[in-house]
Amino acid sequence: MSENNADTLTSEFWENIERKKLVRPVCNLCGNNFFSPQVVCPDCQSSDWIYEESNGNGKIYSYTVIHRPMGDGFPNPYIVVDVDLEEGWKMYSQLLNCEIDEISVGLEVEVIFEKHAERTMPFFQPRRAKK
Ligand SMILES: [Zn+2]
Repeated sequence: MSENNADTLTSEFWENIERKKLVRPVCNLCGNNFFSPQVVCPDCQSSDWIYEESNGNGKIYSYTVIHRPMGDGFPNPYIVVDVDLEEGWKMYSQLLNCEIDEISVGLEVEVIFEKHAERTMPFFQPRRAKK
């Protein structure tokens, strides 16, 4: 990325999400995958990085179950997950379509896209055997 500023940094990410593609920054210099998007690679400080598509598969690295949602429109309970993606990066999101007693660290999850308040957002759900 040559012209990084606050807008261009995340606009490409959200444009991809709108097309139901999950992407993450990959450093051209050291190959590091990172998230959230930063002006420079957190490993080697290079500003030479590009967005690459992720397969959206990962495992729960950690999670928090919130039994008192922040307001109307939030599910109860509200499950926040830190997902360890297969390409070697992590992102925070919300876990959907999952029973409380089903959640565990290491649970295999996959990305899903849903529209909330006119904006498509990436969420995760348990990865179940293909039907
Ligand atoms: Zn780097």
